[in-house]
Amino acid sequence: MNIILLGPPGAGKGTQSKYLEDHFHLKQLSTGDMLRHAVATGSPVGVVAKSFMEGGKLVPDDVVVGVISEAIEALPKETAGFILDGFPRSVPQAGILDQLLDRIGKNIDAVIVVDVKDDILVKRISGRFTCGSCGEVFNDFFRLPKTEGVCDRCGSTSFKRRSDDNPDTVRERLVVYHEQTKPLIDYYKAKGKLNIIDGEAAIEDVKERINEFLGATRQ
Ligand code: AMP
Repeated sequence: MNIILLGPPGAGKGTQSKYLEDHFHLKQLSTGDMLRHAVATGSPVGVVAKSFMEGGKLVPDDVVVGVISEAIEALPKETAGFILDGFPRSVPQAGILDQLLDRIGKNIDAVIVVDVKDDILVKRISGRFTCGSCGEVFNDFFRLPKTEGVCDRCGSTSFKRRSDDNPDTVRERLVVYHEQTKPLIDYYKAKGKLNIIDGEAAIEDVKERINEFLGATRQ
C-alpha cells in the first residue's frame, strides 16, 4: 500500500507517518528530511537546497524529483509500501510522480489530507521538536516526552529543532502551501483517492481515523 500524506506544515504529517511506519510497516519518505540531511552533509543537493529551505520556498523540481525518485527506486522489493510525506507539493510535481510510478509499475492507493487551520499551525510549529535519533515528533505545548528528556519511541536523549520553524519562514511556508500545494486536493479528488481528516483533533483520534480509512482501503 502506497500513500500520500498531504497537509500544511505543522499539520502532523511527520507524527502520523511514524505511526504508519510502526503500525502498517510502511516506509516514510520525507523529502524535507532528505533535503535537511543533504544540507547537513553539504552534498551538492544540499548546497542548492539550503537557501530555498531557509526562505521557506520550494526547492526546484529537478532537485527534489531526483531525491525522491532515487529513494522510491531504492526501496527493497519486500517493502510493504511507502508514505510520501512532503511530496508532491505542487500539481507539476504530482504529474512527474504519476510518470515515475507508471515507469516502475507502482501506484498510489490513497491520499490523506491532514487538515488544520493556519492560526493553530503557527503555535504548533513554534513548539515543535523531534528526537535526534528516530525522528519522533514532540511539542512544548501539546506533547512532551512521557519521561522528561527521553524519547518515548526509541529511548534516545538527544532532540533537535528545525531552523526553518521560525515565525517569518513559517509564514512564507504557509503562503507556499496555499498557493502551490493546496490545488493538489482537487487533483487527487478528481482521481477518487482523497480522504480529508480533521488534523485539529487529538493525535490519537487522528491516528484512529487514518487507521479506519486505510483498513477500508486495504480490503
Ligand atoms: P518539510 O519538512 O516537508 O516541511 O520541508 C521543509 C522544506 O524542504 C520546505 O519548506 C521546502 O523548502 C523543502 N521541500 C520539502 N519537500 C519539498 C518538495 N516536494 N518540493 C520542494 N521543496 C520541498
